[in-house]
Amino acid sequence: MFEQAWQVGTFAKIPVKIHWTFILILVYVASNAFSQGAGYEAIFIEICFVLAMFFCVVLHEFGHALTAQRYGIRTEDIILLPIGGVARLRNMPEKPIQELIIAVMGPMVNIIIAIVVFISLLSLYGTPFFSMENFQNLDFSNWRGFLPLLMISNIMLVVFNMIPAFPMDGGRVLRALLAMGFGRLKATRIASIVGQIICVILIIVGLYYEAYTLAIIGVFIFLNATQEYKSVALDSVLKNKTIQDCYRKDFHSFTDYTTVKDAYDFIMHQTNRHFMVINLYGQYCGTVSAKAIKETYKLNPETRISEIYQPKILSLNSSTSIAHALYALRGQTNLILVTEADSVVGVLDQESIQQLIDMEN
Ligand SMILES: [Zn+2]
Repeated sequence: MFEQAWQVGTFAKIPVKIHWTFILILVYVASNAFSQGAGYEAIFIEICFVLAMFFCVVLHEFGHALTAQRYGIRTEDIILLPIGGVARLRNMPEKPIQELIIAVMGPMVNIIIAIVVFISLLSLYGTPFFSMENFQNLDFSNWRGFLPLLMISNIMLVVFNMIPAFPMDGGRVLRALLAMGFGRLKATRIASIVGQIICVILIIVGLYYEAYTLAIIGVFIFLNATQEYKSVALDSVLKNKTIQDCYRKDFHSFTDYTTVKDAYDFIMHQTNRHFMVINLYGQYCGTVSAKAIKETYKLNPETRISEIYQPKILSLNSSTSIAHALYALRGQTNLILVTEADSVVGVLDQESIQQLIDMEN
């Protein structure tokens, strides 16, 4: 999603990028205005308005990024998507108060913009300008509507961003406040649940009033709320944990001359998905997956394990960190041989780590 973005500039060493789909918004706005019979000037004003709003979104993201920078957290880049902006921070602060301030400083920028516009309008036109009927008739047919609508949109941006659900800023504020009392993991869990309830309300209200954008936003936030919790849960569980905490002591190894049929009969009663393979000399020589056994069984049950196994062994000491083991399990092998003082004590796969995560939660 973030790959096809054009870099438009760099400020405070942070690259600002625009995703190509952003163009679609401008095309949509223009064609929509045109089909409603708007003149060229009105279309031009509306396009300028969209660009001005996205500039406000960029400033909002810089509110987050520059605050994060003060806490020594670098920002990879700021990307403009049709749904809004994203400041991709390298990492999140551990201290709740820092997360709170970083989250608040985005919407704060929009509040400041709204106040500045309000003061300018007040000094330009005086108090009578801020009447209800004047505001109800604002549109893009002339420049007079531009600034008041910019002010209103910035206020709406603040309200929208403060919805207390991930990945909205309000979700982070809520999590940070909860983290001061419950710790980060539990705070994230509560914040996720609150976020999901709000999403369900948004979806129901959106469908009921046929405001489908609202419903889609609800679905989008819902999926993200769950994702955020998973990643925080993973971090906090894996921190300070070693292979010692979750490896499997009892595990089965197939000899490499076992037939796939025999292996298949065995794994039917097993929940494990990866097995060690030993050669004629009783040495560990590789791993085989239940998936490979099942697939080969359908083709030729007489095949030997020696023809289908992965001839690679990765052994790690039980004192190795889970984070390191997980890295190896994602790229190098499906099953790690666990050793202690040069003798094999068990195995480790992604499921073992998953069990640890489930247990801790
Ligand atoms: Zn924000």
